[in-house]
Amino acid sequence: MNTQNEFSKRYSFEFFPTKTDAGAEKLLATAQQLAQYQPDFFSVTYGAGGSTRNRTLSTVIDAQQNTGIPTAPHLSCVGDSKEEIIGLLDHYKANDINRIVALRGDLPSGMGLANSEVRYANELVSLIREHSGDHFEIEVAAYPEVHPQAPNFEQDLLNFKRKVEAGADAAITQYFFSADSYFHFIDRCESLGINIPIMPGIMPITNYSKLARFSDACGAEIPRWVRKQLEAYGDDIESIQRFGEEVVTRMCERLLQGGAPGLHFYTLNQAAPSLAIWNNLSLSERR
Ligand code: FAD
Repeated sequence: MNTQNEFSKRYSFEFFPTKTDAGAEKLLATAQQLAQYQPDFFSVTYGAGGSTRNRTLSTVIDAQQNTGIPTAPHLSCVGDSKEEIIGLLDHYKANDINRIVALRGDLPSGMGLANSEVRYANELVSLIREHSGDHFEIEVAAYPEVHPQAPNFEQDLLNFKRKVEAGADAAITQYFFSADSYFHFIDRCESLGINIPIMPGIMPITNYSKLARFSDACGAEIPRWVRKQLEAYGDDIESIQRFGEEVVTRMCERLLQGGAPGLHFYTLNQAAPSLAIWNNLSLSERR
């Protein structure tokens, strides 16, 4: 049992902003369904470089106002000027938004970091604290399986520590399918004196080819035995989902029993896959 167990458990669901008004309406219905489970917060992703600026903004405000669940915008710094970032902070504050997931973001290929005024997430956290004081609760990203651009685990961990020292209150991990990678990361955080809640990011398995593509890009490892089994199911979506639910539920049980301070579900805007996992967990595990 690690010191993460000292924090009270929190649960959250992540969405991405939709492109159309019809999509936004459907997403709101999904948020309303999930709100019945009284999560601690929702979060809404942001396209680095501002590609979803207005949609993220309206999705966050709609979700919070219509469900009563605190909703956090993701805010990435690469590709946005300081002035644009500050404008967003002021707008969120004026709309009673009081938490933010602060990220570097991934720019489309061809757009280099050199053009960015704020280059790393630790600089963004510092900017938020300088400009808005303690108004926002700030979550940052963590990578138990190492960020794909980091030279090694130790360097990445030290860069994670910079974000905590800059004023992050909590972290959400990139998704993973090995509870051991999370526990190892937590042990190493503890050894560096990092003491904030680090919530495992949970990706339900619903579609193998998309998951494989995305996992390769973001550096999340699908264990060979899971990959092989999913491959063997081919187009049999029902079996993929049944097996995926079992694998991810078992991992969540281990995480919570081992002291993880809650779970953050990457819903991909669908309630059912996350709720299936949630409902498989016993009440005592969730507390
Ligand atoms: P950073 O913490 O800045 O790290 C990026 C890389 O730089 C790492 O390799 C790190 O080791 C290194 N590094 C960090 N600080 C320094 C420094 N000061 N000097 C030198 N090197 C440094 N992307 C989006 O575009 N929109 C989203 O909404 C979004 N939501 C996400 C939510 C979660 C929970 C997670 C885990 C990821 C999300 N991402 C999102 C992806 C994220 O933006 C990418 O993983 C991005 O490549 C890194 O972002 P970061 O905030 O972790 O960056």
